[in-house]
Amino acid sequence: MYRTHTCGELRLSDKGQSVTLAGWVQTIRKFGSITFIDLRDRYGITQLLLKENMNHLLDENPIGREFVLQVNGQVTARSNKNPDLPTGDIEIDITTYTILNKSQTPPFTIQDDTDGGDDLRMRFRYLDLRRNTVKKNLELRYRVSRIVRNYLDSHGFMDIETPYLIKSTPEGARDFVVPSRMNPGQFYALPQSPQTLKQLLMVSGYDKYYQIVRCFRDEDLRADRQPEFTQIDCEMSFVEQEDILRVFEGMIKEVLREIKGMEDPHPFPRMSWEDAMRDYGNDKPDIRFGMKLVNLDILAKKKGFRVFDEAELVVAITAKGCSEYSRKQLDELTAWVKRPQIGMMGLAYIKCHTDNTYKSSFDKFFDEKGLKEMASACQAQPGDLVLILAGKEAKTRKAMSELRLEMGNRSGLRKKEEFRALWVTDFPLFEYSEEERRWTALHHPFTSPRKEQIALMDQPDHFGEIKANAYDMVLNGNEIGGGSIRIFQKELQEKMFKALGMGEEEAQEKFGFLMGAFEYGAPPHGGIAFGFDRLCAILGGSESIRDFIAFPKNNSGRDMMLDAPALIDEKQLKELRLDTVNE
Ligand code: ASP
Repeated sequence: MYRTHTCGELRLSDKGQSVTLAGWVQTIRKFGSITFIDLRDRYGITQLLLKENMNHLLDENPIGREFVLQVNGQVTARSNKNPDLPTGDIEIDITTYTILNKSQTPPFTIQDDTDGGDDLRMRFRYLDLRRNTVKKNLELRYRVSRIVRNYLDSHGFMDIETPYLIKSTPEGARDFVVPSRMNPGQFYALPQSPQTLKQLLMVSGYDKYYQIVRCFRDEDLRADRQPEFTQIDCEMSFVEQEDILRVFEGMIKEVLREIKGMEDPHPFPRMSWEDAMRDYGNDKPDIRFGMKLVNLDILAKKKGFRVFDEAELVVAITAKGCSEYSRKQLDELTAWVKRPQIGMMGLAYIKCHTDNTYKSSFDKFFDEKGLKEMASACQAQPGDLVLILAGKEAKTRKAMSELRLEMGNRSGLRKKEEFRALWVTDFPLFEYSEEERRWTALHHPFTSPRKEQIALMDQPDHFGEIKANAYDMVLNGNEIGGGSIRIFQKELQEKMFKALGMGEEEAQEKFGFLMGAFEYGAPPHGGIAFGFDRLCAILGGSESIRDFIAFPKNNSGRDMMLDAPALIDEKQLKELRLDTVNE
């Protein structure tokens, strides 16, 4: 037996026991003639005491950091207790030890606050994973997956695997492709999600499906994305939107209860897409704080201030208690909105002083009454600061939604330990892509339009008005899940493809299998998928999903540890009948 106990297990009540432990050397400290070693494993750290009589052994078999040891000894009470460690009351008085394996000096310290930079830790990810902070993240991930599985299991869902080598299912991103040796010149695509496959399972009668499944999207990895990521993917038959929202609100509540100890998470509010865009400037509002957007078009325009007069949209937010912002702070905020990521020309403001006077950055064009009108439209109180942006509609709204979040951060309103989820519903079915000069599906092409608007599917002029039976779950300003009630009739699916500019032949070639299946008794169905990595990151209070993935890739999609992607050898290329072109 390699060990009788783990390194996190022994307590004062075990005093006197002879034990065998195995683990990694965290630290070695010499203290006169005695040596202390912290031995670490997945479960914790136990202090080992090597008395003077072990010194000759230590000289013969020196021990270093990250060596793997097996030690025998007796549990004794520590004279110098460490209240920060669960094992801090005891130590092991070592009688013998065996070096099971040596280690090179690690390239960074295996500690919570490591000295290793991102790249180095990615390259030696197996060492990074030894660190407590990373381990805790993976433990959280595992707990969340267990809660989700238990919940879905108890609601009658069946976990069914779907293939990774499939045919392209365009969902807005680029596919990763895999050449087929047995079918020269042909390629599989890796699923961007199991969307069509889960729909086929519905046709087959598996009315409650789920899978915690890897998805692959070949996107530029801006922000916090990974080329492969995990979804909690679900689908149900004979359901309406309300059924889906109920089941999955229950699931996320269960997660919040178990992981965050939220006894009775409030019912998730519902917000229409239009309201979200109007009040928060985006479709994933952070509702931990108010600071809603206020349209000032009527009050601000036609007063002779060109910036407002020429704008498509004049929009404001109110920052509570910020009227005393200094010149410097306002300059800094102005620079913030002018950054290329935000792209505004400037920032206007009204300071609502506590003595009921107003001071704005555009006093020349507005009298006190005009300022007061705007401030009161924004429900600003004495002591508040109204921030105003003006410009092209979509850009200005987006910029204001970013500024709102920034002000939320600056005012400490986005509390890490507060979790506020909501449903956003009533999304548009289509979105016009200026770039592609055609209508695209806002969610994906399998999403059904509102029943009463189906007739509009034949009228391109009205595509912009059609609402989808689609919904997103948003948590603290992040879209954590999204889904829809699907199209399940062949004719409607054909219409959808046509609306998206896909010819009959192309639709048949790409999605003939799905439309074929719809001819054999497809039930009404719908579903949802949650971004599992993101959900874990939010629950773990982190900005980065990478921290919650055992072996993530870097921003250029590289696995630094495996050094992948890499060239393959000539023989492999030949077998695949592929050639590479040197540019
Ligand atoms: N397959 C969709 C996605 O990955 C989710 C769904 O509609 O169920 O976004």
